[in-house]
Amino acid sequence: MKFIYLDNNATTQPHTQVLDAMAQVNEQLWANPSSVHRFGQTARQRIELARNTVASLIGARPRELLFTSGGTESNNLALRGFLARSLAHREATPQAVIITSRIEHASVSETVDSLQEQGVEVVHLPVNIHGCLSPQDLSVSLREHAQERCVTLVSVQWANNETGVVQPMTELAEVCRSHRKQYPGARVVIHTDATQAVGKVPVNVQTTTVDLLTMSAHKFHGPKGAGALYVRAGTSLRPQILGGSQEKQRRGGTENASAIVGMGMAAELAASFVGTETSMVRLGGLRDHFEKGIVQVLPHTTVNSGRAPDRLWNTSNLGFAHLEAEAILLGLSEKGLCASAGAACSSGSLEASPVLLAMGISESVAHGSVRFSIGRFNTGDEINQAIQIVSQVVKRLAGTLPLGQATPLG
Ligand code: PMP
Repeated sequence: MKFIYLDNNATTQPHTQVLDAMAQVNEQLWANPSSVHRFGQTARQRIELARNTVASLIGARPRELLFTSGGTESNNLALRGFLARSLAHREATPQAVIITSRIEHASVSETVDSLQEQGVEVVHLPVNIHGCLSPQDLSVSLREHAQERCVTLVSVQWANNETGVVQPMTELAEVCRSHRKQYPGARVVIHTDATQAVGKVPVNVQTTTVDLLTMSAHKFHGPKGAGALYVRAGTSLRPQILGGSQEKQRRGGTENASAIVGMGMAAELAASFVGTETSMVRLGGLRDHFEKGIVQVLPHTTVNSGRAPDRLWNTSNLGFAHLEAEAILLGLSEKGLCASAGAACSSGSLEASPVLLAMGISESVAHGSVRFSIGRFNTGDEINQAIQIVSQVVKRLAGTLPLGQATPLG
């Protein structure tokens, strides 16, 4: 069966040039990059070239970038690594605070929960119905919680994996910067999980002055198992994987050279993609066409975050009230359409997406919400077919609802 793949926020197809670059490293440059012989040093050079390319994609200096196994590890390292010193010297440093949101990926939110168990104070910023954070709320929260001699880590995502909402990152980073200026005794650092933003939209740490930034290669046509953490010069970070001096003592373990080189190639291709507005406009047009098409045939569809001021060009989160996302996904899958849902089936009961609930979306819509995420390789033809498939599946499921609960889905 031929698939229509609209699940690019879950992962993307590795680009053929990425696969070729990786195969070359695996076949010819497989020496340990830490070995002193020339063979090893050639592998090392390839890693450093990749570091230059990946750094340049986000406007960073190569030495500010360290390679990890992906977004999950980078988020763990950013949060734990930055707060490790405060936790180790609790008597000396009075208080550690994390200011975050309720729409973060689990690799941030679960790390935050575990740090809270270790004594870190946690503050959650609210999001509005569109899924947006407010710089004003961050400013108020910093004034309330980021006191003198206190260590504060702000961790807010750049773009949401479920809704595609892009946060006002430049303004949020600016709020932290001006707080630092106003209260020089307060140590405030800002981390952003930019896993869904890098490679899709321009991300630049010169203009958006975050201190720590997470990225992952498989979200922009690179390999799985490769990611990076940007660490602004001067930001202290304790390694969380010990036992080797790799990555300037900040992440032990023999480098996954082929994946890193693949990430470098993916970054090079992504740079030309985000640099050409026409590609993003064309694909954004496909997304809009998809949403319009669905709403036309199923007029009671909710476009979650459809009115957000800024949304990734590729993400459509559609709510079909009174239906279960799981049933819709299975129906779509039978017809060859790949999509996802934030709702998770745990121990037999389907839980609505915490992201949508945090935005104030009703349980009924949240339970029936499905994420469609377009990628660089999708075509207009596929989008037209996808509209047909979604319409058939949703109409069929709506028709099977028990009497009295029949929904007016078109
Ligand atoms: N953050 C976000 C926003 C994500 O969407 C993901 C992947 N679903 C991650 C972090 C984790 O990235 P990885 O799969 O590379 O560990």
